[in-house]
Amino acid sequence: MNPEKINILDLDRAGMVAFFASIGEPAYRAHQLLQWLHQYGISDFQAMTNFSKALRQRLSEMAVCENLTPSFHQEAKDGTQKWLLTLKDGNSVETVFIPERTRGTLCVSSQVGCMLNCTFCSTGTQGFSRNLSVAEIIGQVFFAVRALSEEGGRHDKKITNVVMMGMGEPLLNFDAVVSAMNLMMDDLAYGLAKRRVTLSTSGVVPQIRELAKVSDVALAVSLHAPNDILRNELVPINKKYPLSELIAACKEHFAEDPKRKVTFEYVMLKDVNDSRREAKQLARLLEGVPAKVNLIPFNPFPGTRYTCSNFETIQAFQEIVMRSGVQTTIRKTRGEDIDGACGQLVGDFTDRTRRKERFLRDRIVVEAA
Ligand code: SAH
Ligand code: SF4
Repeated sequence: MNPEKINILDLDRAGMVAFFASIGEPAYRAHQLLQWLHQYGISDFQAMTNFSKALRQRLSEMAVCENLTPSFHQEAKDGTQKWLLTLKDGNSVETVFIPERTRGTLCVSSQVGCMLNCTFCSTGTQGFSRNLSVAEIIGQVFFAVRALSEEGGRHDKKITNVVMMGMGEPLLNFDAVVSAMNLMMDDLAYGLAKRRVTLSTSGVVPQIRELAKVSDVALAVSLHAPNDILRNELVPINKKYPLSELIAACKEHFAEDPKRKVTFEYVMLKDVNDSRREAKQLARLLEGVPAKVNLIPFNPFPGTRYTCSNFETIQAFQEIVMRSGVQTTIRKTRGEDIDGACGQLVGDFTDRTRRKERFLRDRIVVEAA
């Protein structure tokens, strides 16, 4: 790509209007371009027939639309699909589509790898390379809409929900993620309702507070432990932002809309965080918080030291939390046979933290001992 050309997929509505203003074009032209890209899936400026020849030429000189290209695609028995998408620097990220009876959810990545090193997460053990751009985040939606419609556009292939639950910690790539989510919700782009776009975070408290100021997407918090001692171990960012601060931010998050709740995700790790005592602690921790709980069966990956709790244990845990009045669901694991389930996304990239190397070395030492 010519370095002076902008990638048009990097622009949300405000960015697009500003860009058009800078070339002396009115806002409605920017709106039309958003529709061409995101609603009609057209990325060739020459095919944008309501633009004059001169404008199409100008756009071609100043901008490109860089699409992501799939290097690998898999479909699981349950219909879950996973794509490995190549970025222009050779790194790649994973995007997963999960069809259900009444909805179709796209699980989108926000970073190449992740810096945060949660012990039960495959992405975390793979290290970190870099943030994704707006174009690379919304590009996953742009790509998946087209890939799914090429399959015949069956009703169950429609994207009705997006969850920022792929690779990476979305709040550590704040501006790009917010712009991309704006496009997901923009009527000129994908037009998803605010409740159908979910940001999942491991608990970066200052950015949760920032998010509340600029976006009204649904919020999911990866809790995984009901006390600081255990959470420090499982979700190390807890050492920086302990539970008291995290819970306070969650209490305030939807203060202006009492009907909305924060979803707390809790991965079920056998003999680690799944006892009745922890269930009671969790119920106590969430007292007074507008909360829902989603229990996630742990998805194993090579080299992990954890196993998933028994189903009976998960049900007993659910029962205790429910009794305290908190709506508690058990997530159905999807796409297991293609490693497309939560925490199994790894992509293919250069790890700049060398964490993967250390993880594998530590495993060898442990296994040899
Ligand atoms: N970084 C963000 C979003 C990506 S992770 C976050 O941590 O919230 C998406 C969800 O998958 C999180 O709730 C995460 O804790 C969970 N997860 C990670 N590894 C998992 C595993 N091996 N099995 C089940 N869930 C996992
Ligand atoms: Fe990163 Fe989320 Fe995995 Fe933790 S669970 S390592 S924050 S992707």
